[in-house]
Amino acid sequence: MFRTLDALVLREVRFRESDRILTVLTADSGKLTLSAHGALSKKSRIVAATQQLTFSELTLFEKNGRYSVREGSVKESFQGLRQDLERFALASYFAECLERFAGEDQPEPELMQLGLNCIFALSEGLGSCGKIKTAFETRLAGIEGYAPLTEGCAVCGRPDLREPRFLPEEGRLVCRACRQSGRALPLTEDGVSVLRYLLEAPAKRILAFRLPEDELRLLEKVSEEWLLRCADRRLPTLEYYKSIRGFTEGSGPV
Ligand SMILES: [Zn+2]
Repeated sequence: MFRTLDALVLREVRFRESDRILTVLTADSGKLTLSAHGALSKKSRIVAATQQLTFSELTLFEKNGRYSVREGSVKESFQGLRQDLERFALASYFAECLERFAGEDQPEPELMQLGLNCIFALSEGLGSCGKIKTAFETRLAGIEGYAPLTEGCAVCGRPDLREPRFLPEEGRLVCRACRQSGRALPLTEDGVSVLRYLLEAPAKRILAFRLPEDELRLLEKVSEEWLLRCADRRLPTLEYYKSIRGFTEGSGPV
């Protein structure tokens, strides 16, 4: 049986001489594993359409629950990523996150939209890497049902927290004076507003916020640590991205 769908190639693994095994994300069927025979042969018409971080229309042949790619055409190749190692590394991290959270054979329209929007923004330079990363991580946690509790201080209840702190073990905010024990990551009041915005804004508007660079760094630490906790596993692409970006763990602002 043949089937045509739009797919974002999250990962490709070389297999035998000229084949690829692909992990792709689709809106209607979530995550799928596909084989692409001959996808590395120079004569193949599906070479470009089956590259990692390409958005393509693929025609699949299904037999016994296994899919193979028969035809493919590129809808968006995100060329801007191919010329910028840092942005490509960050997009690869997004792809690993999408692979981690997407369900198999179940609709994932929100994840698809988030992934395409953020990878497009990276490719087109529609924001700094830190800004796009913070938006992606926060929103992804929200879509997956892990939105941190941001209404107010978890102890005193104030909606306008005084010197806010994020408790990564609990996914909650407290005022500095209300903090009792455990790890706490500092945020600014505007950072808390952006956190709320990212969880509630329409999907197409998640990058429509402004925050000074030093405050964004604090928020990025929160979004990253929280998403890692939700993912509950190491994400090697994040470590690679950070090595590219020149970060060393824990050296950010305190
Ligand atoms: Zn408080």
